[in-house]
Amino acid sequence: MIRLVGRAFYDAAIGMAVVGLDGRFIHVNKSLCDMIEYSEEELLTKKFQDITHPDDIQKDVEMVEKCIAKEIETYRMEKRYITKSGKTLWILLTVSITNREDTRERCFISQIQDINDLKHYREMTAAALEAGGIGIWTWYAKNNLLTWNDTMFRIFNANNQAFTGKCEDFIASIHPDDRYLVEPIFQDSSLPTFAMRLRVLLPHGKIGYIAFKGKRRFTNNLETEAISGICYDITKVIENEINIARSNEELEHFAFAISHDLQEPLRTITSFVSLARKNEKKHANSQTNRYLDLIETSANRAKSMISDLLEFSRAASLSEDSISEIEPAPIIHDICKSLSASIKEKGANIVVESTLKIKMETYHFSMIMQNLISNSIKYAKDEEPPQISINMSSDDREWTIVVEDNGIGIEQKNIERLFKPFVRVGPKSKDGTGLGLALCKKIVSLYFGKIWITSSVNQGSKVYITIPKNYEEAKKSS
Ligand code: ADP
Repeated sequence: MIRLVGRAFYDAAIGMAVVGLDGRFIHVNKSLCDMIEYSEEELLTKKFQDITHPDDIQKDVEMVEKCIAKEIETYRMEKRYITKSGKTLWILLTVSITNREDTRERCFISQIQDINDLKHYREMTAAALEAGGIGIWTWYAKNNLLTWNDTMFRIFNANNQAFTGKCEDFIASIHPDDRYLVEPIFQDSSLPTFAMRLRVLLPHGKIGYIAFKGKRRFTNNLETEAISGICYDITKVIENEINIARSNEELEHFAFAISHDLQEPLRTITSFVSLARKNEKKHANSQTNRYLDLIETSANRAKSMISDLLEFSRAASLSEDSISEIEPAPIIHDICKSLSASIKEKGANIVVESTLKIKMETYHFSMIMQNLISNSIKYAKDEEPPQISINMSSDDREWTIVVEDNGIGIEQKNIERLFKPFVRVGPKSKDGTGLGLALCKKIVSLYFGKIWITSSVNQGSKVYITIPKNYEEAKKSS
């Protein structure tokens, strides 16, 4: 039996040693010798103090003294050895003292594990987390214990001493209006992973923002064992988002006010042009009449730009209450009525295939359809009457609207740009402001949908629009 234990000692995969009360090595195994590069004979002439890093000797000796004084029977510590070639090696040392009355028979049994790689990996991870300002935390369900790293204290501007490690402490530092988001995490075990933005209460009445993410670990009985996660400060990002939203709102308000105010002087110009025309009636071909024509054309163009700009700024926002179920077919029918002059002039044929209902604001749906249908008529080939088909379909997630025409088409290189305001690429002879597709895109993005075009020159164009069915979900994942 003793022989068996002896073999287990010498052949063990981890380092093992029997050490005297004075620190001298009495027996050492091969793994320990390999680890610190000394032969067995060499090690047996040394004390553990000789191969321990000078900065770690003190705390090891203190533990040894406690064992000798019978205050403790075992201890465990991470410390450094200096190998024969002078390298520093991190090890995990587990020591127990034999429990003999006779002091001469008492000795230490030490187990030594090489944790050098682990230690470096930990240091690298800690440095990376520190550099990224990423806090890490774990909550243990059994004893409601929340542990977190130093970065978490920095994020919360919290005091190390004041933190008791209860999740209630953490919840108390979240803005009262956001607590309903975090409370279920520590109660409801059905949420395996989560990611949320939260407001945090900082000293001096300040409010910060954090991204808070975690993953739950379950026991075999599917109860929560622990939750681990990360947390980082997103205050600057959110402040920027708020500033951008505010300046966008101001810009939209400005565009609205300007375009609205410009309508009045333009009305004055056109009414004076018609008065002046009356005076010039007798001289049908006069220079003045030609000038009046030019003024009128420009004033009309300015008018349509202003009214498009007004539509563009009106479509800036969406109130969830105004989304309702609409029937597309009658709305498209009304649009066709309002476009009847150009439909007649070009001999356009419009086919609508839809029995679906879509959830959108009627005004938004009309604006999109109005722009797409009038584009399909406007950009028709001279020699062929426009054939326009409007198709709608749906699956579990979204509605898809496709408006297809047989018009002049668009060069591939220009397609991406068309959704930017004021971009016009078609023939100069066609009237327009370059705001129609930009307006469609803006409306579609209010619903977290997508819009794109496929087209080839002289082959016609197809505009695709998708609108998510679940507005709330689309908003969350945007
Ligand atoms: P506008 O028609 O006022 O110029 P839009 O934003 O509606 O502005 O369209 C931008 C450009 O995209 C147009 O100038 C035109 O060149 C092109 N375009 C839009 N729709 C079509 C279409 N159905 N067929 C061909 N070209 C189109």
